[in-house]
Amino acid sequence: MVVSKSDAIIIVGGGAFGLSSALHLSRKGYTNISVFEKDDNVPPRSSAANDLNKIVRAEYEDQFYTDLTIKAIDAWKTPLFAPHFHQTGFLHCVSGAAPEKAVDTLNRFRASAEKDSRIKPHVLPLKNVNEVRQACWQLDGELPGWHGYLNRFDGYAHSANALAAVYRETQAAGVRFFLGEQGAVSEIVYVSTLDGRKCAGIRTKNGRFHPSSLVIVAAGAGAGRLVPEIGKEVVAKSWSVAHVHLTDEETSALRGIPVTYARDLGFFFEPDPKTNLLKLCPMGGGYVNTDPKTGVSHAPDNVSDSAFLPEADEKQLRELLRQTLPSLADRPFVRKSLCWFADTNDSDFIVDYIPNTSSSIIIMSGDSGHGFKMFPIVGSWITDLLSAPDSKQSVKRWRWKQPAADAEKADWGGDVSWRLGQSTEFTSILPPKASKL
Ligand SMILES: Cc1cc2nc3c(=O)[nH]c(=O)nc-3n(C[C@H](O)[C@H](O)[C@H](O)COP(=O)(O)OP(=O)(O)OC[C@H]3O[C@@H](n4cnc5c(N)ncnc54)[C@H](O)[C@@H]3O)c2cc1C
Repeated sequence: MVVSKSDAIIIVGGGAFGLSSALHLSRKGYTNISVFEKDDNVPPRSSAANDLNKIVRAEYEDQFYTDLTIKAIDAWKTPLFAPHFHQTGFLHCVSGAAPEKAVDTLNRFRASAEKDSRIKPHVLPLKNVNEVRQACWQLDGELPGWHGYLNRFDGYAHSANALAAVYRETQAAGVRFFLGEQGAVSEIVYVSTLDGRKCAGIRTKNGRFHPSSLVIVAAGAGAGRLVPEIGKEVVAKSWSVAHVHLTDEETSALRGIPVTYARDLGFFFEPDPKTNLLKLCPMGGGYVNTDPKTGVSHAPDNVSDSAFLPEADEKQLRELLRQTLPSLADRPFVRKSLCWFADTNDSDFIVDYIPNTSSSIIIMSGDSGHGFKMFPIVGSWITDLLSAPDSKQSVKRWRWKQPAADAEKADWGGDVSWRLGQSTEFTSILPPKASKL
């Protein structure tokens, strides 16, 4: 099916993938675009990208994603995105106690950075603690056994602000936004056809039906609820996030520090000068919330259910601070949460039509926790797909993944080399409920 420039297009989800799609579609001249977002605010609280910052690093073990990120970094430097991109560098290390898997991963990332002639000139190997300290003098902890490299090609993006900028831009370009109750999509509506079914539009939680020629499901960790036929090929997973509140002087002293990442402990960013918050994330296998009936993990319904920091992650982050910025090691953590994303077992995105729907519905999902760096270019993958002559996704690895009937995945994503540790069930880390007595 060919979508004309004036046909109604519905995008479900006003997070990173949905907003970028709205931007690229409107830039290509599509005039009838509506975004449905279940939160009543953009940036939505339930978006994984509604955050102070996300790493933008170009070196991947896989050249395909390196090339894409280099393209994205070029786009980060254009006027709409540039205010939100900070090329502070990426200090990528392991501590002396890191397991072999973490060291091997670090080495592969470094090899990837050093073999690419566009990145190599920006890479500084750091063989020992002294060299790490020279690369970032503000790290006044002991940095026991730290080594790795600094890549000045990389940095971070202020993700919530970037979402807000694209929201304003697309609104000004005529994209309509349905938020909160009006925007919460309860189901995709199909009609039967001779050769299967066709998507006719969506129904929102308030019961209204909205017809459209094309629906793009960019619902992040919510994809599995709207497109259950994807099965376990996309599951909701989360990692935790916490912040430390600094004084003006502390924020100022840490101005310009690179994203500091110990593969075995976690990472933190340059503090945000507006809020004086320094954001930290532990690195680990993440948390899943598996429905015992289907074996598929879904994000909990309310954001408030995820507003805590698991004990093990707190311990790990305190260790990270103790090794790097010891004066902050015992400071209370604020704005603690688990942040949910859409995971695939090979970390590849999915950007494709749902099969046998006459090209009437696209799923754009499986960000696998590394999609935000692509924010400025994500939407171009939709316009590319729409202009594909045979309606076929030309990027093989982004095609629809048909779940195997007997798909048993005991170690979901455990093979992904850049993650350390196994996934844990969300129910097993829930903090005890406060007694009402
Ligand atoms: C802790 C953490 C750290 C990360 N760090 C990085 C990083 O350093 N670098 C990087 O590149 N990426 C990072 N990511 C990944 C990045 O955040 C995601 O790749 C990106 O946000 C994916 O965009 P999305 O649009 O698919 O999902 P989201 O941004 O989560 O947006 C999905 C939206 O869909 C909405 N929605 C869901 N269901 C419905 C429904 N039924 N009706 C209406 N709306 C609905 C949600 O409310 C949400 O707003 C990180 C993710 C996490 C969790």
